[in-house]
Amino acid sequence: MDKIKMTTPLVEMDGDEMTRILWQMIKDKLIAPFVDLRTEYYDLGLLHRNDTKDQVTVDAANATRKYGVAVKCATITPNRQRMEEYPQLTEMWKSPNATIRSILDGTVFRTPITIDAIRPVVKNWKKPITIARHAYGDIYKSVDFATTEPGECTMTFRGESGEEKTVLVQKVDGPAVWQGAHNKDSSIRSFARACFQYAIDTKQDLWFSTKDTIAKIYDGEFKKIFEEEYERTYKAQFQELGLTYFYTLIDDAVARVIRSEGGYIWACKNYDGDVMSDMVSTAFGSLAMMTSVLVAPDGTMEFEAAHGTVTQHYYRHLKGEKTSTNPMATIFAWTGALKRRGELDGLGDLVGFGQALESACYDTLNAGIMTKDLVGLVEPGFQATAVTSEEFLDAVACRLKAALSGGEG
Ligand code: NAP
Ligand code: MG
Repeated sequence: MDKIKMTTPLVEMDGDEMTRILWQMIKDKLIAPFVDLRTEYYDLGLLHRNDTKDQVTVDAANATRKYGVAVKCATITPNRQRMEEYPQLTEMWKSPNATIRSILDGTVFRTPITIDAIRPVVKNWKKPITIARHAYGDIYKSVDFATTEPGECTMTFRGESGEEKTVLVQKVDGPAVWQGAHNKDSSIRSFARACFQYAIDTKQDLWFSTKDTIAKIYDGEFKKIFEEEYERTYKAQFQELGLTYFYTLIDDAVARVIRSEGGYIWACKNYDGDVMSDMVSTAFGSLAMMTSVLVAPDGTMEFEAAHGTVTQHYYRHLKGEKTSTNPMATIFAWTGALKRRGELDGLGDLVGFGQALESACYDTLNAGIMTKDLVGLVEPGFQATAVTSEEFLDAVACRLKAALSGGEG
């Protein structure tokens, strides 16, 4: 078999712990035998981030801007406990995902991988629901405090021009709590663009929800910016593709989502997205089956798994145990990136390879060969066997090889 050729490199960001082990296995067993893989490799493993004073993360993000497509392994975000575990760390480095997101000005879209044997808790969901979470501002960059006596609170904006604007927040007759939050038009606009762009790229309807009946100015601004962007830039393409942009109130959206069949993108404000993405992913099954893609307003994409480095499994791996860690979301990060690279470069066989690898994964799961985390989730009566990560990957490789050589002969 001739290996599939690539013309432009993928930006490859390696990571930590169990997912770093899976990363290498996926490349060795599922990609390198079939694709003449060209990547620009960045080692985002914690120790190399430390050695480069985190410059490697910035370099990887800039390379992603240059090439347009990246694939990322899960990485450790150090906390106090990690500082003890890795005494050589010179600083508690920031989350690589936050660094990359801010350089790309991107929005995160999370989509579950679904199979027939694992039914969503919501029984009418037939297709995946993708959640887009605005990852800037609101309560996540707010200030708050408590007061203990009667009084009043005002909020003042002081412009650089010297102009001031003050409003009374509330007059209270006793102890109270207060909060000041903001968002930026530029961030809301980037969020809107990434959502419309991703809807076009994945040919799915876009839903957007806020509470603009209550927060008339604050949420009203989100609604207005989305409408402006839609009318100005995306409406024609939406109509051409038969797609719908649908705005509704958050509570109406929740009711409709539950009654829907799925198969659309639901754009959420920061807090709504935080809560709803956990609800939707749990209702679909497992964090190990959740994919994630960071989309910049210009369509640059970075693909990854939504889960972390699966630390507990890594410690068992270090003791020599063969773990049953689910590689699905990491494999789909690779297929997502390879398909996108293929689409951008007009390489039909690279797109086809990504699809064939995904099919081989589905076939393997449908044959009842799956990691431990999924075995407990299958419908009664479905025969499933728990295998190790390595056995799962071998089973996928076997099906992939058959499909690709069958396609040629
Ligand atoms: P996690 O790595 O997602 O794992 C939490 C638990 O979920 C695991 O212990 C495991 O449960 C289950 N799980 C997650 N992925 C799985 C998979 N592929 N296969 C089977 N089970 C899976 O989250 P965490 O333990 O909170 O975080 C570990 C490290 O990951 C942290 O250092 C954190 O900073 C980092 N992290 C990175 C990213 C990222 O790079 N995008 C995201 C989140 C967290 P059982 O142990 O019960 O089997
Ligand atoms: Mg959350």
